[in-house]
Amino acid sequence: MAEMRKNNAKSSSLSGFLNRSFTMFAPSTFDSNHPKVHFFHKNQQSQNRAASASKSHDSIDSVKGFRLWIDERDISMDAAYKKELQSVLKVRKVTLPQVFIKGKYIGGADVIKSMFEIGELARILDDFPRRQPGFVCNSCGDVRFAPCGNCNGSRKLFDDDEGFVKRCFECNENGLIRCPYCCD
Ligand SMILES: [Zn+2]
Ligand SMILES: [Zn+2]
Repeated sequence: MAEMRKNNAKSSSLSGFLNRSFTMFAPSTFDSNHPKVHFFHKNQQSQNRAASASKSHDSIDSVKGFRLWIDERDISMDAAYKKELQSVLKVRKVTLPQVFIKGKYIGGADVIKSMFEIGELARILDDFPRRQPGFVCNSCGDVRFAPCGNCNGSRKLFDDDEGFVKRCFECNENGLIRCPYCCD
């Protein structure tokens, strides 16, 4: 496959994987008592080429195969995810997908693929709680977002006191909130 060329270059850095200094989430985002996988990605429909889409899909599949509770952060659903990723990785141009495990930065599709192949991913995720096979969130259907109840997704609220329409601060730029049932 075409992506094999890149993988070889990256896998040599894997041996130092556990010892390198990790980028951590801000404490508000990351709770070390709650083993969690954060998966930043971009909806495949909005990705322009099949190559990157299938690569991203492969790494999602290899992580999803463990049936963990994954905090999926689709940057096409919420621009704040992109900003968060830019600030955590301290780069302006971010590539996707990017995976964090227990708040530690792991890497992108190539790293995840290599870790999966050598069994490292299975080892790290061994003590993580598992979901029931075939479980789908009843509330959001695994979309991870729900329409904002505060403004009904319109992003606008009429302020009775001030007498004008203002921006709803509960939701994101798409009038969505994180699904309260599967994203906390
Ligand atoms: Zn949900
Ligand atoms: Zn709202």
